[in-house]
Amino acid sequence: MKILFFGPNGSGKGTQGKIVKEKFGIPHIETGVIFRDNISRGTDLGKEAKGYIYRGELVPDSITIPMILNRLKEDDCKNGWLLDGFPRNLTQAQELDKALNQEGINLDIVIEMILDRQIAKNRIMGRRLCVNDNNHPNNIFIDAIKPDGDRCRVCSGELKTRTDDQDEEAIDQRHNIYYDNETGTTAGVNYYKDLSAKNNGVPRIIDLDGTPGVKEVTEELLGKLGK
Ligand code: AMP
Repeated sequence: MKILFFGPNGSGKGTQGKIVKEKFGIPHIETGVIFRDNISRGTDLGKEAKGYIYRGELVPDSITIPMILNRLKEDDCKNGWLLDGFPRNLTQAQELDKALNQEGINLDIVIEMILDRQIAKNRIMGRRLCVNDNNHPNNIFIDAIKPDGDRCRVCSGELKTRTDDQDEEAIDQRHNIYYDNETGTTAGVNYYKDLSAKNNGVPRIIDLDGTPGVKEVTEELLGKLGK
């Protein structure tokens, strides 16, 4: 199963993505996680990407596109993958489509999480990251996943914030890119919607309302996926 997962920062895409990954037994490839991992390990890629990430800008396509296309060629991707955070603009969407065509790979599903921009912004600012596991959900503004005091609600681990999550300018910049339907992420989503319309519903497009709580969104998603 090959799946693209779109959604603005703060929509809960990472949390839902983890569930999809487990249901299908496929790797969850998150561009942002790959970059942050490289930054913390001090690699050349991390050094190059750092400035763009802190400003909320996209890391240049010349770095990001080959990085992801190479990742998809690794052994664990043979039976499918879930891409989260890529494509993030129209060029990346077109290049991914081209690369998949060249390899004779069909994309099965495109999920789009829909969330109001202001709600997404509040959720980002309330997000806390567990040092033990990035996917332990903690958000000081969401009742269902409020941390336990200043510790992780799942494992009592220490909680941190992402630098780019506390910088309003960087958040606005990330959302400007996401909601841009000319060349940004929304343009990339529309590219795949057009493809689906021309190709008898392949890939299948799944719209997902990200407004309710984590559990409700998961139920809707798994229902639509038939899982
Ligand atoms: P995220 O964890 O998805 O919020 O991504 C954090 C940051 O990583 C973004 O604000 C960008 O600077 C960078 N990034 C993630 N995905 C991409 C991508 N597909 N293309 C370029 N930059 C990206």
